[in-house]
Amino acid sequence: MPDLLIIGGGYAGVWAAMAAARRAEDSARDLNIRLLSKDAYLTHRPRLYECNPQDMRSALEPVLAPIGVELIITEVRDIDAKQKRVLTSGADETAYAYDGLILAAGSVLRPQPWGEDQGGTWSIDTHEDAVALDDHFATLKDQQHDQTGDHTVAIIGAGFTGIELATEMRVRLAEHIGREQSERARVILLDAAGTISEELGPGPRPHVLAALEAAKVELALNATINRIDGDQIILDNGERITAATIVVTTGLQANDLAAGFGLATDATGRLPVDGNLAVKGLEDIFGAGDIAHAMTDDSHVALMSCQHAMPMGKYAGHNAASSLLGLPMLTYEQARYVTCLDLGPWGAVFTSGWEREVQAVEQEAKARKQFIMTEAIYPPTNDRAAILEAGAIG
Ligand SMILES: Cc1cc2nc3c(=O)[nH]c(=O)nc-3n(C[C@H](O)[C@H](O)[C@H](O)COP(=O)(O)OP(=O)(O)OC[C@H]3O[C@@H](n4cnc5c(N)ncnc54)[C@H](O)[C@@H]3O)c2cc1C
Repeated sequence: MPDLLIIGGGYAGVWAAMAAARRAEDSARDLNIRLLSKDAYLTHRPRLYECNPQDMRSALEPVLAPIGVELIITEVRDIDAKQKRVLTSGADETAYAYDGLILAAGSVLRPQPWGEDQGGTWSIDTHEDAVALDDHFATLKDQQHDQTGDHTVAIIGAGFTGIELATEMRVRLAEHIGREQSERARVILLDAAGTISEELGPGPRPHVLAALEAAKVELALNATINRIDGDQIILDNGERITAATIVVTTGLQANDLAAGFGLATDATGRLPVDGNLAVKGLEDIFGAGDIAHAMTDDSHVALMSCQHAMPMGKYAGHNAASSLLGLPMLTYEQARYVTCLDLGPWGAVFTSGWEREVQAVEQEAKARKQFIMTEAIYPPTNDRAAILEAGAIG
């Protein structure tokens, strides 16, 4: 029976497992599928800006066990593409042989050159990071609101994540320091660019600005950071911002495993994949999600988003299984593209198409965001038929 290994228990890896199991089931063929991941959870990274980040992950076993996919908790250190084996690190150092491999190890927060450890800043990149930030908020309740920046939160990076976190910040703080103190806190959103989220485009921007104003978020644009020293952000122009909480949301880069093959990667470190999501130049390895640079159609590259990671995972799973079982593959395509940005108590903005044409704002858009965040990004659990159905393409 062929061995298919999947690295990563994020959206791409989980949907790949469901689709590979579905392909094997449909063709009545045996396929041994194992998923290797650092922990036993699917972390809902798009929800880590919300209150209660502790709850923003779901167990992998109830998705994988019913469809016969074995979950192995381990950290992959290296991939030996010639010998077709995956090497893990730590005490359980092991080599896993494979016939087919799906690389879905995702992305990490892009490091910034502000001091070696980014000066003790926080992030919401991983479940662990987001929970640590929440624990830190809990410590603020014992401190008085004063002139030293104790209740100042500075968020660096006015992209999608920075905007979502900034507009939600007073709700987050109110949970820990009470509503009155939260209303008096300073929330500052900094960016080196002269405008918020360059990639957002002109359509949604006025709505985002209205929401930032409603959430009393101070904007510090054209703010180039020279260094961060404790609770001090020192800008290139000499200005200093004091904040007890400095959160970095400056974008993602592909997992380091992508660099291990010596192939040319894109600006964010992603591996080039072909129309079937096979890594170009590597036999029997498919890439999906944030680690893969794939075309969604003739002119658009998939974004690092769960919206793209889930379908990419499905195509990679379907195709990797097909390749091992001698069946035809399907070309990855994803015509529809929407953006839904949560904007705190103000609501949200929902756009469609790559031009980001606004379709809904405020509470109507918020309802769509809540559907995406609480239903669309969750795989079915404990129900073999439903899980295999979710792995079907089309
Ligand atoms: C704060 C934040 C907000 C976001 N908001 C949105 C949003 O609103 N909408 C949207 O569409 N997208 C959003 N994204 C992006 C979205 O979360 C990612 O695009 C998506 O998670 C990518 O899925 P993935 O499976 O490719 O990778 P990941 O979710 O990164 O999963 C990678 C998996 O691989 C595992 N792994 C990594 N390295 C190893 C290793 N060496 N060995 C074993 N396992 C390993 C990890 O543990 C994890 O299980 C957001 C991301 C962040 C961080």
